[in-house]
Amino acid sequence: MWWTSPIWSRCAWRNCPTNDKQGIQRAISRRHIALIYAGGTVGMTKTARGYAPMDNFDAALATLLDGQGERLPRYTLHAYADPIDSSNATPADWLRIGSDIAARYHEYDGFVVLHGTDTMAYTAAALSFMLQGLRKPVIVTGSQIPLDAARSDAARNLVGALTLAASDDINEVALFFDTRLLRGNRSTKASAARMAAFDSPNYPWLAEAGIDMMFNRGALLPRPAREAFALPAAYPGMVLSLRFVPGMPLAALQALLALRPDALILECYGAGNAPDRDPVLLDLLARASADGTAVVACSQSPHGRVAIGTYAAGAGMGAAGVAGAADMTFEATYAKLHHLLALGLDAAAIRDRFVVSLSGEVTA
Ligand code: ASP
Repeated sequence: MWWTSPIWSRCAWRNCPTNDKQGIQRAISRRHIALIYAGGTVGMTKTARGYAPMDNFDAALATLLDGQGERLPRYTLHAYADPIDSSNATPADWLRIGSDIAARYHEYDGFVVLHGTDTMAYTAAALSFMLQGLRKPVIVTGSQIPLDAARSDAARNLVGALTLAASDDINEVALFFDTRLLRGNRSTKASAARMAAFDSPNYPWLAEAGIDMMFNRGALLPRPAREAFALPAAYPGMVLSLRFVPGMPLAALQALLALRPDALILECYGAGNAPDRDPVLLDLLARASADGTAVVACSQSPHGRVAIGTYAAGAGMGAAGVAGAADMTFEATYAKLHHLLALGLDAAAIRDRFVVSLSGEVTA
């Protein structure tokens, strides 16, 4: 974790002096939050085949939260009838959640999305591109242990997410997990074992829930003048990815390109490097770009940024029409490509605009 001159402060509930804890509590309890349950471990139970969605989620949730009384905002549960393990999520699931939030946007003060951790960062990034110009919090969370199991982290994550969804100062899609509030499109699942499962390697945390809720005000998106939602009708594009590994046969790239993807993400080494001894590789990429595939390079290193041409091995990719993803996460890169394709942009337009920030996902 690293910080860019953070300005931390305690209170993000308007009209409350920072030391007026009861005032903050009252402000929170007056808010009304939509709690969308899309699936994930949080609502699962052990079965003979492993963890699967439980039948009585509503009742288990009520048992968990009912004792909180006025300490939490009022919430209304919108539980999907078909909760999924998020490893089954597709762009259609992102669109379902985004459309549900957009449809109910004016009914609530904020939104919490309960989601599986495996693809939570993809969904958070996709929501941030659909719900541009947000003027309310959308907080995505879940848990590592089901909510009715021993040592579950569900209560901590849910209480934190609901509290943050009642804040005046969050105008973006954020991901809350353990003690960290992260920008949704900057987050990545960093641990399958730790309660602190998520991090944002290229961006400071937005807030930290310690004894006090401490906001990193300099890192939050400012409140925009108006919403500028961009909800595509569907996500019809095909986005593929290829991770360079030492000695990878070119046939792997040829096989992917034979599928004629709309976009291809190259997972390059370090600052955006790829093997350059075989000219056929660059020829294949140049031909794919010319044929209308948007080719984007991101890095296998979670921390840092892609700058194509820093090294000679990699410089040819720029000439072959490959755009660098700068400091975007893989998840944000993938969701952004789907988003831009769904909005009808062609490969040339995507290449030109790929590192223009839509919702704070990339550092200029
Ligand atoms: N497989 C689960 C999911 O992503 C993991 C989790 O929620 O922690 O739905």
